[in-house]
Amino acid sequence: MPDPLPLARPLGLSPSFGFGDRLGLATLGHARALLRHGGPIRGIFAQQSVRELTRTGREAEDVMQAAQTALRAPEFAGIGPWGADADHLKEPADIERYAKAGFTFYTLDPSPCMEAAADAWPQEQVEARYAEIRAEVAWVEALAGQRIAVPEGPVIDCTLPQLKRAAVKIGRAIGKTVALARSLAESSARHGLQTEIEVSVDETDTPTSFLEHWLVAHRLREEGVTIASLAPRFPGSLEKGVEYKGDPAVLAASMNGHGALARFMGPYKLSLHSGSDKLAIYPLLARASRGCFHVKSAGTSYLEALRVLARHDADGFRQAIALARARYAADRASYHVSAELAMFPEPAGCDSAALEAAYLDRWEDTPPGRGFTGLGRQVLHCAFGSILTDPALGPRLRQVLAEHAATHEAFLVEHFARHLRALQP
Ligand SMILES: [Zn+2]
Repeated sequence: MPDPLPLARPLGLSPSFGFGDRLGLATLGHARALLRHGGPIRGIFAQQSVRELTRTGREAEDVMQAAQTALRAPEFAGIGPWGADADHLKEPADIERYAKAGFTFYTLDPSPCMEAAADAWPQEQVEARYAEIRAEVAWVEALAGQRIAVPEGPVIDCTLPQLKRAAVKIGRAIGKTVALARSLAESSARHGLQTEIEVSVDETDTPTSFLEHWLVAHRLREEGVTIASLAPRFPGSLEKGVEYKGDPAVLAASMNGHGALARFMGPYKLSLHSGSDKLAIYPLLARASRGCFHVKSAGTSYLEALRVLARHDADGFRQAIALARARYAADRASYHVSAELAMFPEPAGCDSAALEAAYLDRWEDTPPGRGFTGLGRQVLHCAFGSILTDPALGPRLRQVLAEHAATHEAFLVEHFARHLRALQP
């Protein structure tokens, strides 16, 4: 009888790093990177959003099993508790899909109920919308006039006009989060699972204010919902697959304030989504959260798999780029990216080293302490579903990875060693 498969667990306030693995072949590299370079950081080795399951044609069980199978190796006996993230859940029906597969960390994403643009609305538009949703945000008036001095953090003034604007922007999203949390409580009980909640309000165009953060935390607490982690939308540009762009002083002020709020209202972890490749801001996050953070990465591991293709099957890599370019207009639709195809060479006739530099970027071209900046990564990033489910390219990529498993692992270990080292306290 083989040993039973290791099980995911809640990680509480331990700092954590989420390694999304869209291929189901990366956990070995992820776990080795964590074991050697993670320090106190725990791994979330199974992590997939509903969108990713749809685009890759996988189920939550496949994702969990891929992680478990890799982690049962004796070398990972000392890796400590590890988590499994049911990522970006927007509907109660999605929760059960993950609960029956044993996922433990639930990222509740109420963004479809958010009104991100309300930040810039004139007050009369805010008032009109507030009048429409008043019954859903009945808590507004009771909070008016409160002043909350967050220890070592911001002072939050709950003026009625500001509360109304915040309620219009995120009030219904808070209600949705409560509904999702109730549904999770039922699924957890049904499956005898210990679970924890992250709330993510990051996938929106406007930064999360301290008042909004406080309101989310306050309302959830009033409703009896305990959270392990919260992902605000930070200021600046947090695009997929590349380094942060924005004013570091503005980001630091935001992270420090949100970190103080997370300690005061929880404590819970401060979470950075689209967190891969943003090495330059990791020290800020580690300091602002006092080591109580979560970082989520996903597509960057699949890009390292494509690097194996670039090195060992140049023609396959050219075909992957051609497919990604052909699908980019459609595939980019739900992602925060700014690459344009005209910026990058057509793959036909281009040598693979030049293509790798243009579409994946390389550590040898990247200054120390920084992540990749090459926007060509986004063209391949958005195409993961198109490439992995392509009847010719998908199997071809898997074949190359099987033949060059050591290279694949080495790329992943180097990639995440750099990430994990930048996060050490
Ligand atoms: Zn996110």
